[in-house]
Amino acid sequence: MDTSISRSLAPREHVVTLLERHGVTATQQRVEVGQVLFACPQHLSADQILERVMAIGARVSKATIYNTLNLFSERGLVRTLTIDGDRQFYDPTTTPHHHFYNVDTGELTDIPADAVALSALPTPPAGTAHERVDVIIRVRST
Ligand SMILES: [Zn+2]
Repeated sequence: MDTSISRSLAPREHVVTLLERHGVTATQQRVEVGQVLFACPQHLSADQILERVMAIGARVSKATIYNTLNLFSERGLVRTLTIDGDRQFYDPTTTPHHHFYNVDTGELTDIPADAVALSALPTPPAGTAHERVDVIIRVRST
């Protein structure tokens, strides 16, 4: 096991508690994905998560990673961010916040919810109500 990676994992007991609190059975593979995902506030693609899970010596398939991430998303453990229709990132910070997206590096950075002021929201279509507003501010490297 790569020690620099094992140091940056979320503690196993913390992940087990988190999964159980959201009604997710804490299988070995789900806990390993959780240890990578919940290590710190970050935005990772499924490929990056797979890479890191394999680096801790776990044996998981890409399909397992996707199934686990979909389950985590359904249960509110992670937010899925879709950029430009095809790039997906998984965000363990599920409280309201916005993002900077660097179009050169593909990197997402959190923006606190209260740092964005929306002075007026359009009236939603009949029979609907605002659920949430996600702002993605695209930036480029200078
Ligand atoms: Zn975020």
